Amino acid sequence: MHIEFYGATSGITGSCHILRANGHLVLLDCGLIQGRREEEAGNREPFPFSPGDISAVVLSHGHIDHSGRLPLLVKQGYQGPIYTQNATGALCEILLEDSASLQRRDAEYENKWRKRKNKPLIEPLYSIEDARNALANMVGMRYREKKEILPGISIRFQDAGHILGSSSVEVWLNESGVQRKIVFSGDLGQYDSPILNDPAVIEEADHVLIESTYGNRRHRDRQMTIDEIGEIISSASHQHGNLLIPAFSIGRSQEILYFLGKHYDEWELDRWEVFLDSPMAIKASKVYWDYPHLYDEEATRLRRNMNEMPPFKTLHLTSSVEDSMAINNIRSGAIIIAGSGMCNGGRIVHHLKRNIAREGTHIMIVGYQAYGTLGRRLVDGEEQVKIHGDFYPVRAQVHTVGGLSAHADVDDLSRWISHFRNDPAVHVVHGEAQSKQDFRDRLEGELGFRADVPEQGQELEL
Ligand SMILES: [Zn+2]
Repeated sequence: MHIEFYGATSGITGSCHILRANGHLVLLDCGLIQGRREEEAGNREPFPFSPGDISAVVLSHGHIDHSGRLPLLVKQGYQGPIYTQNATGALCEILLEDSASLQRRDAEYENKWRKRKNKPLIEPLYSIEDARNALANMVGMRYREKKEILPGISIRFQDAGHILGSSSVEVWLNESGVQRKIVFSGDLGQYDSPILNDPAVIEEADHVLIESTYGNRRHRDRQMTIDEIGEIISSASHQHGNLLIPAFSIGRSQEILYFLGKHYDEWELDRWEVFLDSPMAIKASKVYWDYPHLYDEEATRLRRNMNEMPPFKTLHLTSSVEDSMAINNIRSGAIIIAGSGMCNGGRIVHHLKRNIAREGTHIMIVGYQAYGTLGRRLVDGEEQVKIHGDFYPVRAQVHTVGGLSAHADVDDLSRWISHFRNDPAVHVVHGEAQSKQDFRDRLEGELGFRADVPEQGQELEL
């Protein structure tokens, strides 16, 4: 029995690990590498295994850095099942098809300069059809349902509290009378996050693979964050402007809607019209509202009281381009939630062009903004920004609201791992180098575990 640490050991994207037992090869996640162009080129390198040799794939959650190379795997010959939590399967329908269209656009863009320089053209990494073939192979499971997926290999999904359907995966391997239990954390959420349950308690394992995205950082206090959102809405209201919220379609958009519903009276939201202006976020929200049995107690109560989700009246779902363009005429009293989360594309860019030079406009940044994106330039306080080739003065007030991360911080990670009682070996994956080292030190120091940081491609006998 072996585990081989493959993707997501040298960074935080492209999660993929390989388990070998009983003559079978099982893949844990098959994520896309996301980052700089040089790093993303790694997606085109051959897999370190033959896709046809894999017996089963187990997917922890829908995010593309965990699921995004499944269509490629299927394109290259994998025909077996992809086991995942039911809601993850539903979100993947949205995410993988979107990823395929991004791949097509990327290839078109790349081929423009290749043509000019007489270089050979490239194919998109995969097509919508490949994505649909991968989706057709998905086998949905419920949380806490234990299933033997191959002779001697069983799995069980436990709620990871990160996005809807996100799971930590328990894997039992049996080979020649020896049993080993592996737990793969997947991406873990924060405790007490909106809508979702806390990460489930797991107490036993021989080996634990734990993510470490925030292995050395603490998030801001949640209550302070919520108070701040209320204050921003109130000052936007006094200044008779619009409030723009760039947000990722899956997870963050639903959290924002949930907060707006929960604090509807307190934040006097009947003075506002709220627009969810993103076809992808609208589809994802429908999946969120379709899985109420996955909610935590508070969300369940809110839903019951209002008999709907999200629990408020002034919400407009604007899928069509016409409906979206009609928002342009509103000069005050609109809360507009749109993608992309980092303002580097999507409908939010059009709303920024319309509103950014107006004094009363407020922009609320609720997610991470990568270097080089328009969102980052707004966070950095640039006085004018270039959008679609034109310069716009930034007269809007830009607020950066921390504390809404979908990821566990170092205290959450420590709390989750502390439930293990039988001294498992802990392998720290899925984080930047420093974050992994720091969390390993914490595991070995105050938490008292045996811990290491596996190298890319490292094999471990179980
Ligand atoms: Zn994730």
